[in-house]
Amino acid sequence: SVPLAYFAGIGAASKRGILFKGGAAIEGLEKIKAVTMDKTGTLTKGTFTIKEIKAFSGLTNKQILTMAAGAESASTHPIANSIVRAARAEGYETVTPSQVQEIRGKGIKALFSEGELLCGNRKLMEDAGVELEETPQNPGGATIVYVALDHRLAGWILIDDTIKEDAKKSIQKMNQLKLHTSILTGDEKTSALAVGEQVGVQDVYGKLLPDEKLERLRGLRKEYGPVLFVGDGINDAPVLAGADVGAAMGSGADAAIEAADVVFMNNQVGAILNSIKISKSTGKIAI
Ligand code: ADP
Ligand code: MG
Repeated sequence: SVPLAYFAGIGAASKRGILFKGGAAIEGLEKIKAVTMDKTGTLTKGTFTIKEIKAFSGLTNKQILTMAAGAESASTHPIANSIVRAARAEGYETVTPSQVQEIRGKGIKALFSEGELLCGNRKLMEDAGVELEETPQNPGGATIVYVALDHRLAGWILIDDTIKEDAKKSIQKMNQLKLHTSILTGDEKTSALAVGEQVGVQDVYGKLLPDEKLERLRGLRKEYGPVLFVGDGINDAPVLAGADVGAAMGSGADAAIEAADVVFMNNQVGAILNSIKISKSTGKIAI
């Protein structure tokens, strides 16, 4: 049977933009000892702006952005959306590739008349044997999107994301509640650490493939106890299912929202904190 208190909890939560998919989600949240979060779209807004474009071997910045946008229009990843938007803002006309394949946690591969284009992170380049003769000098917290044409580095796009306004304050309060806080991300360590430092999480795990995120989550559970994972991407679906409680941002991919036990409709980091607080007060009434 579902105690009446859970209905009260569900009601209080919905007023704060929190959607519990059932009483079990509230019960699970009450026992959480660690909160681990995806970076892009969860702690950050997921709307990237372009900081720098670099083009090699006779190519222009326009060609790099146009080809990248053409390839990325096949993806729903926040990075992809931002690159497509940037090309459109410049008024560049993109060409649809004859073939395109998204490589989870790495980037995208597309076939153009110019050749085979790879657009993504260092791992994608390494897998394809693309030599990174040159890399950005001070990327800081920015994400590097490498672009290769026929297995040769053609350029890169340096993009920057913004941290959500309430991230730091919310993480601080979670730390005060003695919850272990961490980031699980597929992004490079430099960018992951920069965000981690700004929001004040206790640990940062970067460069993780979707399967590795799940493995890391199991490690956290062993060390701290029941884990809440908050994510937003298609890639996050396995981790959401594997966590003690899985939560998705409402702005996230359909697959993430489907796999989650809790959805934060207002996309705020503060909602994570509020959901835990509501679960604790609901639990008290239920006893
Ligand atoms: P996160 O854990 O930050 O949400 P993902 O697992 O979605 O990251 O992706 C990990 C990394 O793979 C990204 O930081 C990016 O470097 C690269 N990547 C993934 N998809 C794309 C894409 N469509 N275009 C370019 N890069 C991508
Ligand atoms: Mg993500």
